[in-house]
Amino acid sequence: MSIVTRFAPSPTGYVHIWSLRTVLYNYLYTKQHDGKFMLRIEDTDRARFVEGSVENLQNVLASVGLIPDEGPNNPGDKGPYFQSERLDIYQEYIQKLLDADKAYYCFCSSERLTELREEQQSLWLPTKYDKKCRYLTPEEVQEQLDSGVPYTIRLKVPDNTEISFEDAVRGKITIPSKDVDEQVLMKTDGFPTYHFAVVVDDHLMWVTDIVRGDEWIPSTPKHVLLYQAFDWELPNFAHVPPLLWAGGKKLSKRTWDVSVESFLAKWFLPEAMLNYISLLGWNPKTTEEIFSLTELIERFKLSDVHRAGAIFEEERMAWFNAEYIKNMELPTLWNKLKTYLSRYDSEYLEEISVFPEEFILKILTELQTRMRTFNEFRGLTEYFFKDVADLDPDLIVNAKMKVESLWEVKKSLWICLDILENRDLKLETLDEIKETFIEEINKAEMKNGQVLWPTRVALSMQQFSPWALELIYIFGREKSMERIKKVLKQI
Ligand code: GLU
Repeated sequence: MSIVTRFAPSPTGYVHIWSLRTVLYNYLYTKQHDGKFMLRIEDTDRARFVEGSVENLQNVLASVGLIPDEGPNNPGDKGPYFQSERLDIYQEYIQKLLDADKAYYCFCSSERLTELREEQQSLWLPTKYDKKCRYLTPEEVQEQLDSGVPYTIRLKVPDNTEISFEDAVRGKITIPSKDVDEQVLMKTDGFPTYHFAVVVDDHLMWVTDIVRGDEWIPSTPKHVLLYQAFDWELPNFAHVPPLLWAGGKKLSKRTWDVSVESFLAKWFLPEAMLNYISLLGWNPKTTEEIFSLTELIERFKLSDVHRAGAIFEEERMAWFNAEYIKNMELPTLWNKLKTYLSRYDSEYLEEISVFPEEFILKILTELQTRMRTFNEFRGLTEYFFKDVADLDPDLIVNAKMKVESLWEVKKSLWICLDILENRDLKLETLDEIKETFIEEINKAEMKNGQVLWPTRVALSMQQFSPWALELIYIFGREKSMERIKKVLKQI
């Protein structure tokens, strides 16, 4: 039988980076087994439903390239994919459980249940239903139903037995049945609970492997009992560890700061994000760290996922992002940048597109090793496209570089200008520029820094930028001279 996995989010807001990792692990596992990855929306809790979150989720998955094989956007034969559209299915299956005497009506009022819980809490006992309605006679049940008393439907948990399941990450997990609550399967409003709907759906959608966060481990025995009650084959389970902040705290759900949307808005590259989060919880058993999605599909093993929570650090993700930028072919980098700019900063794209592409590519060559995320692009490059800012004497005078006064700046810039103006000197390639300048500075009996620091500042008027000779290479002879003259005039 081929593998079927699923991601089954409740549409309650942004897509958490932790959810993206769950999606990724499902996706990798499915693809390496030639299986099918489904998306199901668990939207029966209407109070928590957030308008637009399903569309948002699907957009996020598309943006990072983890597109489900089947789901609301690309239905197959296992739909509907919204639980709220499957209510009649749950009714049919709850009836089956009632008929088989595996579930029972519970008429306890919410006041009674609250009292019971409070009493148990005051005695430090685990809070569980006391099974009062389990032992009602058929006549008593009928009487309550006839008189219209609101009810829930609960699962009968077998007495004195053990519930076990094999977990791909944790190994065998066994729980005595006495510790399992007789959970509600159907609520008074006729909506299923998560536990009931998840099992019915996973079965009817032929899900073979359930990969989800380990906060669902305590729920799994309840699910196992339901599979047994229906006499259905148990799927495989893999509960993956949580993501933690550096302080060791769990990343809380639904906050913007840890949402995939926020990282996309900060222009993180999806491939870098996926690479980084794949390693949060999975041990690739090598010191290599950079893996493309295809490589991840080849190498990922559920059995190499560890139990301990992994720490999420945005800084570290930025390092991965920088590596991806560094290793990109120049035309690819420019194309990707254009896509990002058109999405997030079309104004800047328009501004720079009047410049020759060759000029932009030269800038990118220099920037490729400096830019960590694409949203740094504007700040790092504006001075290439706009007139240089006014002279900043504190920046251009630099005692460490032995340029101690504006007079010395002037002298240095004149030397630089002389070199640039001398048409006999070859200044086409970066190598030629380097060779020529070093030689000429030497002839002028100056130190490199003495000429090149003021030149760099004159060309960029930035605290940080590529080196002077790289700037000359990018700007070319004419533009470099123009900028230097402009600064000279201000001294
Ligand atoms: N709807 C649950 C959630 O929001 C799904 C849990 C599961 O994968 O079984 O995470």
